[in-house]
Amino acid sequence: MTIPSLPDLHAIGASQQPTYLDRAAVDAAVAELGARPPLVFAGECDDLKARIADVAQGRAFLLQAGDCAETFDSVTAVNIRNSLRVQLSMAVVLQYAAQVPVVKVGRIAGQYAKPRSNDDETREGVTLPSYRGDAVNRLAFTPEGRAHDPHRLVEVYNLSAATLNLVRAFVQGGFADLRTVHSWNSDFVRNSRVEARYEALSAEIERALAFMVTCGVSDDALKVVHYYASHEALLLEYEHALARIDSRTGQPYGTSGHMLWIGERTRQIDGAHVELLSRLRNPIGIKVGPSVAASDLRALVEKLDPDNEPGRLTLITRLGAKKVRDALPAIIETVQATGRTPAWVCDPMHGNTFATDNGYKTRAFPVIWDEVDGFFDVHRELGTWPGGVHLELTGNDVTECVGGVGELAEADLAHRYETACDPRLNRNQGLELAFYLAERLNE
Ligand code: PEP
Ligand code: MN
Repeated sequence: MTIPSLPDLHAIGASQQPTYLDRAAVDAAVAELGARPPLVFAGECDDLKARIADVAQGRAFLLQAGDCAETFDSVTAVNIRNSLRVQLSMAVVLQYAAQVPVVKVGRIAGQYAKPRSNDDETREGVTLPSYRGDAVNRLAFTPEGRAHDPHRLVEVYNLSAATLNLVRAFVQGGFADLRTVHSWNSDFVRNSRVEARYEALSAEIERALAFMVTCGVSDDALKVVHYYASHEALLLEYEHALARIDSRTGQPYGTSGHMLWIGERTRQIDGAHVELLSRLRNPIGIKVGPSVAASDLRALVEKLDPDNEPGRLTLITRLGAKKVRDALPAIIETVQATGRTPAWVCDPMHGNTFATDNGYKTRAFPVIWDEVDGFFDVHRELGTWPGGVHLELTGNDVTECVGGVGELAEADLAHRYETACDPRLNRNQGLELAFYLAERLNE
């Protein structure tokens, strides 16, 4: 398998690409990226693929979560720690409930490029290019801010490396110790008005941990977790520059992250994104919205997974709470008819976004939950495994989604609305979702 050249990919045609004016600067950025070491190793991608194969077979559950859009300014120790903290906390609750390993994958260390519905944005009569993520331009609504700057690709690489470095240190250095993680959950249950049944679950986990300790279980399995990085593989220049041949196997891998996914807007069967990812050996996610045609879905899974390889595909459905119960069965049946068993994952975020009267893009916790609930109902009905969730989430106490334990109202959104793109669940909303999920996993 070879990696197609960048000009060949551009000749195929790709949607959602930046319009760079300075070709020499693009070439320089691509050359610099091409000379840098990989961010992840192919062997790690294979490990993740094996874990996702377990998800597909109903032997594990996937928690994929993180920012909608990472920003350069958000790369701080506090943000990374808080994000990991909430994800690991949720994973403990889910793992206890499901009694299967939870595969932890962040939308992290590379999630800097955003597809947009409109190329331009108009404010008070002024029209400028839309914000496409810090990998492309800046949020600031000025002509300089919104100009597409190829040097930012190098910054993405550097900040992804810094993020991964801290993440690796955290998950191996004792931060992820199961007992510490569980004590964060106990705090949540104590300090929030969650229902008594969550207290019971939390207390049960506490007893299980205490029992293990009295048995003398104190090995590394309690202290070290496996955590992987993922992002949408959107920018051809960046992903191509980090596509490398693995020296062990001679196979091409994307080394910008362990798992790469193709977004709802870039999954054209004859487009460059599908072409590039079809050549890389990483585990691949495909976002699937309600308008997908059965013939496209069939062609996509066949092109991206020609060998029916375990763990290769994760289908991330984002159908909306109103449509999930009607649309999901046909999607599952279409894929099953190809003979493939992908990991099925629910993204309850992207089909449920709306604008409030006071001008915020938000999502409502009960509606997010309704889509997850519908996802479980359909999979239980069809006898397939509801393999995981894909969430936009932060470890900080932001006010971007309404509802949940804190009963955030639309009027509260102004308080801490910090996302550069889509609204994220805050820490308490994330944990609450984990406790809800625990009940469905426990059925
Ligand atoms: C996203 O995951 O942030 C995103 C843009 O999703 P989708 O491609 O499903 O719209
Ligand atoms: Mn998003």
